[in-house]
Amino acid sequence: MSKGIHWVRNDQRLSDNPALSKALSECEEVLLVYAFDDRIWQPGRIGPYRAKFILQSLDSLRQGVESLGGVLTFVHGRASGEIPQLMRSWGAERCYGQREDAWEETEEEKALGREVDLRLTEGKGLLEEEDLPFSLADMPGVFSPFRRKVEKNLTIRPELPKPLNIKCSWESEEKLPDLSHFGWEHPKPDSRAVLDFRGGETEAENWMREWIWERDCLTTYKETRNGLLGPDYSSKLSPWLANGCLSAVKTHWEIKRFEEERGANESTYWLFFELLWREFFRFVARSHGSKIFRSGGIRPGESTGRRGDPRTLEKWKLGRTADDFVNANMIELARTGWMSNRGRQNVASYLIHDLGQDWLAGARHFEELLIDYDPCSNYGNWMYLGGVGNDPRPNRAFNLAKQAEYYDPDGSFRKHWLG
Ligand code: FAD
Repeated sequence: MSKGIHWVRNDQRLSDNPALSKALSECEEVLLVYAFDDRIWQPGRIGPYRAKFILQSLDSLRQGVESLGGVLTFVHGRASGEIPQLMRSWGAERCYGQREDAWEETEEEKALGREVDLRLTEGKGLLEEEDLPFSLADMPGVFSPFRRKVEKNLTIRPELPKPLNIKCSWESEEKLPDLSHFGWEHPKPDSRAVLDFRGGETEAENWMREWIWERDCLTTYKETRNGLLGPDYSSKLSPWLANGCLSAVKTHWEIKRFEEERGANESTYWLFFELLWREFFRFVARSHGSKIFRSGGIRPGESTGRRGDPRTLEKWKLGRTADDFVNANMIELARTGWMSNRGRQNVASYLIHDLGQDWLAGARHFEELLIDYDPCSNYGNWMYLGGVGNDPRPNRAFNLAKQAEYYDPDGSFRKHWLG
């Protein structure tokens, strides 16, 4: 009887999950395991919004797994320490997991791989490293040439079906912890939030259906995507994509179905275009390792040389700067764990270029607060704005007054958050 572990990572879903499908095809029994890594599961790394979202996702996954006859269990500590022990006590021969891109995650893969037979499968993005028309070492450092090369002869794999059953004889029950276990209180819901984000595969699929098909927002996405208020302006799929409740491949095929049934236009293409930004930053992270978490970023020999002033940083975090457009966005983030893309661009530019702070401090704050935090997209975008990433232009400073006037002409976004 061959037994395998499926290490649940940022792939908190059953459908279109290549790593889980591989485990199920190669083993008679599969136990799903999520590790609450104590280096990450602590205040300062994951704030309560994201923690809540992930716990909801895991709860939803647990229910889904149980409905197929399987088990999702939990361990506390590093996967590389806990999973080998669990495998020995259950008699599992192999461990399966989704290949990640960022440094801490890939280091953990290496550490676990030294202990057990670990089989990693791509599944986080639209593209696999093998699909790229260049080696990682030769990857274009700028988005546009990357996109042009990737789009030529692009083939995206078909979606994988949800498994029909999961056999597992594991019996000991490990309850899913709640927020208080990690020292957090439940964040108070704020009625001003763009959306009540809830973790889980079903929530992800429901929202994607509603936004694309019922609200018909994909048809006009290119014109609305720089909006600031309400659920419709952009897809809001990022929290589910970041934690893998939804796969990028599934999102891609949903766009294609929509194009076939209701017609393709610039907006339908643009959502795909944005997903390619996600791919770009995944492969930047994969090729540059820990550099994307350093002040000098990926520019050789570069350093911003900024130290930062804690009081200035604190005012920015609290939304108490001299700029009310920045403040409104920062308050939205603090109260909900969400900020629009337009908001993110502006508050980041303001912190770096107007307040003269180190981009890393801003990136770390986003890491803690954002529900959709993803190491590659977060540090990749921050580096870009900090001038130590992939931007061909050296100084990407926004004129905040012009941005506010253009994107919030009647001040309704600022009124919404500042009263
Ligand atoms: P949509 O406009 O509907 O786009 C669809 C999807 O495309 C997104 O869900 C996302 O997966 C991807 N995408 C869109 N824009 C980008 C981009 N610039 N970079 C990478 N992927 C993109 N995105 C994250 O998912 N996690 C982060 O931690 C994160 N941090 C950011 C930090 C800064 C400073 C900036 C400027 C951007 C950051 N982004 C991050 C990118 C972008 O702001 C969000 O992906 C987007 O706002 C999410 O909203 P949406 O799902 O409605 O996006």
